[in-house]
Amino acid sequence: MEQLESLIDENTSAILVNNPSNPCGSNFTESHLKDILAVAERNFLPIISDEIYGGMNWTKHPFTPLYTIPSSVPIVTIGGLAKRWLVPGWRVGWVVLHDRGATFKELRRGISNLSQTQLHPNTVFQQALPEILKTPQVFFDGVVEVLKTNARLLSEKLAKTPGLKVIEPQGAMYCMVPSSTYNANEKIGLEYDKWKDIGDTFAFAQKLMDEENVLCLPGECFFTPGFVRIGNLPLDPRLT
Ligand SMILES: *Cc1c(COP(=O)(O)O)cnc(C)c1O
Repeated sequence: MEQLESLIDENTSAILVNNPSNPCGSNFTESHLKDILAVAERNFLPIISDEIYGGMNWTKHPFTPLYTIPSSVPIVTIGGLAKRWLVPGWRVGWVVLHDRGATFKELRRGISNLSQTQLHPNTVFQQALPEILKTPQVFFDGVVEVLKTNARLLSEKLAKTPGLKVIEPQGAMYCMVPSSTYNANEKIGLEYDKWKDIGDTFAFAQKLMDEENVLCLPGECFFTPGFVRIGNLPLDPRLT
């Protein structure tokens, strides 16, 4: 929280929260979310809450939509079909404004302008949305069950790989993989000396692609050099 607050200056327009998280696979507790809200409140900042992975978690504590916690902070909630409905190519999403203090006048205009450009999803998917939103909970439970099983398997396998350590994901569809000497206080990443011809995470990702046809993203994409992001996908015959 101190680090977050230290980044706020006169150029800050909003705080972005992505929970459950891409790329870390974390699911924030209600108390952690309250701490974030307190920072926003103190600094008079709205929050953009990207909850595209909402409910895709397997922690003891539930997923808490940010807007459900009482506060005066204006919140822009982002959601969509891509992840929970497993249709990333459909480009169907939504923005919900929790306009506490009626501060979103300009934002409403901006969203309205943006939604009238040529960038909208196709009309067939838009028309189908009311029916799609009635998808029974059993479908989402099935997806989470498979993600949970795969996350466990991924963590177990990767933990046995020299030079890698796994932070087991709690939700979403990813995990960040640092080295086996990772310590949150020191920024240590993959142990390059454990492998041949690998000097950074780009080389690690490239060689994994070239030699094993496995795609992962270098941590630099997320401002965390020394980590790689691995996808945890809900691949399971029960879901196809
Ligand atoms: C995938 C994703 C989205 C949704 O993007 P789409 O354009 O609907 O596929 C939003 N936020 C995050 C963090 C994501 O990973």
